Amino acid sequence: MTGFFEQGELVGVLTTQPLGRVLDYKAPEGGCFAGAFVEVPLGPRKVLGVVWGPGKGDWDISKVRSVIRVLDAPPMREDMTEFLTRAGKYTLTPLSAMLRLATRAPGLGNPVSMRKIYRLGTGKADRMTPAREKVLTVLQDYGGLSFTLGELAEQAGVTSSVIKGLVKQGAVREEDTPRDTPFPRLDPNLPGKALSPDQAAAVEALAAQNGYRTTLLKGVTGSGKTEVYLEAVSRCLEQNRQALVLLPEIALTAEFLKRVEARFGARPAEWHSGVTMTERRRVWRMVAESGAELVVGARSALFLPFRNLGLIVVDEEHDTSYKQEDGVLYNARDMAVLRASLCGAQVVLASATPSLESWANAEAGKYQKVELTSRFGEAVLPKMRSVDMRPEKLPAGRWISSELKSEIAARLERGEQSLVFLNRRGYAPVTLCRACGHQIGCDQCDARMVEHRFLKRLMCHQCGETKPMPDTCPSCNVEGRLAAVGPGVERMGEEVAGLFPEARIAVLSSDLFGSARAMKAQIEEIADGGADIIIGTQLVAKGHNFPKLTLVGVIDADLGLQGSDLRAAERTFQLMRQVAGRAGRAETAGLALLQTFQPDHPVIRAILSGDEDGFWRAEAAEREAAGVPPYGRMAGIVLSGPDVGAVFDLGSHLAKNDAPLRRVGAEVFGPAPAPIARIRGRHRVRLLVKAPKGVALQQALADWTANLRLKGDLRLAIDIDPQSFF
Ligand code: ADP
Ligand code: ZN
Repeated sequence: MTGFFEQGELVGVLTTQPLGRVLDYKAPEGGCFAGAFVEVPLGPRKVLGVVWGPGKGDWDISKVRSVIRVLDAPPMREDMTEFLTRAGKYTLTPLSAMLRLATRAPGLGNPVSMRKIYRLGTGKADRMTPAREKVLTVLQDYGGLSFTLGELAEQAGVTSSVIKGLVKQGAVREEDTPRDTPFPRLDPNLPGKALSPDQAAAVEALAAQNGYRTTLLKGVTGSGKTEVYLEAVSRCLEQNRQALVLLPEIALTAEFLKRVEARFGARPAEWHSGVTMTERRRVWRMVAESGAELVVGARSALFLPFRNLGLIVVDEEHDTSYKQEDGVLYNARDMAVLRASLCGAQVVLASATPSLESWANAEAGKYQKVELTSRFGEAVLPKMRSVDMRPEKLPAGRWISSELKSEIAARLERGEQSLVFLNRRGYAPVTLCRACGHQIGCDQCDARMVEHRFLKRLMCHQCGETKPMPDTCPSCNVEGRLAAVGPGVERMGEEVAGLFPEARIAVLSSDLFGSARAMKAQIEEIADGGADIIIGTQLVAKGHNFPKLTLVGVIDADLGLQGSDLRAAERTFQLMRQVAGRAGRAETAGLALLQTFQPDHPVIRAILSGDEDGFWRAEAAEREAAGVPPYGRMAGIVLSGPDVGAVFDLGSHLAKNDAPLRRVGAEVFGPAPAPIARIRGRHRVRLLVKAPKGVALQQALADWTANLRLKGDLRLAIDIDPQSFF
């Protein structure tokens, strides 16, 4: 996308409004470049847009309006428009929605605090001198870019008075622009840590890559993956290219920022939901202007306007939070690979327990595989044992086995930390009336309400609706017979406090913190030894460093194995190994105890035996036989609406008219009620499309759904490569 459009020329502008097409406008006074961010009139409103190319000219020319103004934002680069286009095609998302992802900084065109910048004007200089010529040449060569007085003078090799002279005559335009300060320079030449031989080999394998290439960096927790990819960042910075490190959880950034600072002498830019609006704006701009060399962020950082991206690291690449589950349904891991391929960058996928997708890509030689086999230094892998819960005769409302109890007691004695792991938020998953058997559900969803005792409320984990804990049963009106059934982390906190009244206990669950910042702070404090026993959900499984932690007790290792998710085994395997990996990171050997009612389950056995490759091979064989990802393709279709009959009718209509799918060898299954058949009052029906690998599935899906008329409040969402099936 190159080219300049003179004033009045037709340009096509993509806006963030869901219009289904690029609109024609006339280029504004002074003209505009392709890629320029602009403000355009749309009905009575002014909206943000990007000059996408020449106009189509298929609109009544007398009705075509003018672009209002070119925003003072660095223009969109060609690799970005290509990325948005390709990612939109892959996920079947309209371009307008893709553009929204790429413009998630507030007030892109609004000045905040000002400074003067210079760009090409429309006037003519009365007389040309070689110095004046140089200034105009620089401005022409750099297209839409603007310069500060100092930058322009330096580029052109002239004094600032030459530029001022051109401004007076209108040949150069002087504008006020917001001041966003660049991030401090990172110094790649500061010494890194002395690397172990396999770390050094890994760094070398990464350095051997030039241009686009994906590497799976596999190594147990504590093996030094972070240390290795920091070296790749260092090399990228040396080459004056930008780097992006994606982390699955905001709470992880605190520790990582410290490590970056220790390694490069300054902090990188941060991009996630905990970052202020002003800072977002600054990051967005600085990334575009090369004022930010390294960004650490959440998945949406992939849509920042990098100017010269050389490396993307996806840490904990198997993590399910990389898949965005609402709005644009994209998987940041896959989009990172796409983005990198378009700008010649390297991708590092780091994990102790890679996704089967990445494992298979590495096996097939599509990805380079680099492995760190041992923990760094003295640290050794934790011992793992199962605790058979069948002979354990625990009283009602108790979940901690005698073995786990005595191991925790031993840690308390030695001043070490223990982690009690249960992947369930709240106090109890079910509230049951002992008089009539009624279970309290959400009025809006087909889901039980979960008691949150800290908040003194019942909460629906689907829609977030809460209500006070009632005294009487809403069904039979009997008083005082409501009982909590099953454990959540809050309840585990109670049990642990009862068993160890002297211990300092911390419950870590994402819903217990008002803000990401508060959560970060608490995790740091705990890691420093601020608690003896940590009770946590999967929040703690994600890469946090707890140096004093030597015991992990998994309350219910069977939890993830229930349900029909095709990745149930993979997820349980990953989560259990990940959690176990929290134990014994420093010099002390750790122990992981898995409480289970099915100690002979193949997944539990694979976890304990440590035969990872065996597990992956078995899992891969099963998926291949079933023709499911990564050996086949899948798309999930969710239909929803307030009227259950209409939703089903639409589902049946789609299932019957499946010719476009059959043409490419794809099959459709369903319609069937979704596992959660109602959310927020909307009934939900699912269809599942399976296709052989390598077919043009997206095109077929687009054809299949192209002529649908979604009457009333019916909605259809297509999820390519679905990760969840609720
Ligand atoms: P991972 O990312 O694989 O979990 P880390 O990179 O976080 O592993 O390393 C685990 C711990 O070991 C960290 O505290 C890290 O600073 C330390 N470490 C790793 N490699 C080295 C090294 N070469 N020299 C000194 N410390 C190291
Ligand atoms: Zn609900």
